Amino acid sequence: MVCQLRQTCLFLWRSSSIKHYGKLITDRTILSDEVIKFRSKGIVRKDGKWRCYQCDTAEPKHFYEYFSKVLGQTIVYCRNCISLGRMDNIRDIYVTESRQQSSGGKYNLSFELSEQQLFASTKIVNAIQGYRSLILYAVTGAGKTEMTFEGIKFARQRGDNIAIVSPRVDVVLEVSSRMKEAFQEEYIDILYQGQRQMYNGHFIIATIHQLYRFKRHFDVIIVDEVDAFPLSMDPSLMHAITAASKKRYSHVYMTATPPRKLLRQMPDDTLVTLPARFHRHALPLPKFKYYKIQPYKIQYMLLNIFMHQIQSKRYTLVFFNHIQLMKQMYAHYKKKIASLTYVHSEDSLRFEKIRNLRHGKYHIIFTTTILERGFTMANLDVIVMHSHTFDSSALIQIAGRVGRKAQSPSGLVLFFHEGITLNMLKARRNIRKMNDLARYKGWIDD
Ligand SMILES: [Zn+2]
Repeated sequence: MVCQLRQTCLFLWRSSSIKHYGKLITDRTILSDEVIKFRSKGIVRKDGKWRCYQCDTAEPKHFYEYFSKVLGQTIVYCRNCISLGRMDNIRDIYVTESRQQSSGGKYNLSFELSEQQLFASTKIVNAIQGYRSLILYAVTGAGKTEMTFEGIKFARQRGDNIAIVSPRVDVVLEVSSRMKEAFQEEYIDILYQGQRQMYNGHFIIATIHQLYRFKRHFDVIIVDEVDAFPLSMDPSLMHAITAASKKRYSHVYMTATPPRKLLRQMPDDTLVTLPARFHRHALPLPKFKYYKIQPYKIQYMLLNIFMHQIQSKRYTLVFFNHIQLMKQMYAHYKKKIASLTYVHSEDSLRFEKIRNLRHGKYHIIFTTTILERGFTMANLDVIVMHSHTFDSSALIQIAGRVGRKAQSPSGLVLFFHEGITLNMLKARRNIRKMNDLARYKGWIDD
């Protein structure tokens, strides 16, 4: 067969020659020299309960049972992890042995790490060296990704299998583009939704869901945005992290808003607080303004703010908690503002809009919390509508969009509310506390 496209050619060659180490697979014909550790049905009955080998659930509500006339038997399958391939009581699954392969772990970084980044980098290397776990409580814009480079290099040179995971696809995309640029000689598998494995799974960047495919394979797992939906909602995803890890492992959790439950689970000395941004400027503090939104008309005070933002050549993300309210307001303001758009998670043009936004096509962007994390752009301000309906983590993340770039380290964070809530106060107090700590440490200059 002649391949027209190099990409396709590479893919066909890769997918036929890659190794599936430390994985749960259903088709053993894809294996070559991998050793099968054990074989079983996808789900098994244990102590009177069904248990799924892929996602390890034993919740009765996750299993669906029906009678197949064709096979003349009852079939039970797991609904919890069906998106990764069906696990049932009739087909075999195979779990392969994990294998290691060291590499150079070489990376390029065009700038020097800040004092705080160096401090964090050393902590990460030490934790990985000793197979210990850490929580990096790092403010938005601390430069977390770069802090991990030395640790990754050490792990890859030792031959560790490493996974960098996040609950969110957009974070996976953002992190993987930076990792690929830095670690150009490494074979990195990027796994999410329909993306297939291209290499041998020694270094992967993936959504946490994808970890269900691996069993006892990783020595090091770095979890980015550990508090993000749906991880905080779904304890079984935390379980996936453990099940994909070897017996001896190092987990590095990174977050700007650590969930209380995680803090409680981890010993105090595993928490590393990183209060400074890499560019040594303070985090912008939110301003509160009482304002009643009227979605059925144009409110000139708001329009004036938007116009002023455009004239000042600022990009403005306007956050909403309700898609309906956002669309209603969009319909009115679009008549006055040509460079206005809106975006939400079910929007089929979502990725295109975000791309256009990065290229400066829009000045005002109405958005739901999908742009709350992982989005970085210069000259950006944020406004929150009905800030009294948001929780403190969301407000901290939203405020954290502003001033991330060294060339525009400050900006506007404005919360419109109909009554100040504890969550709003908590968010502002937290930001102020981090700035104070950063000043005390001498890690910021203003
Ligand atoms: Zn399952």
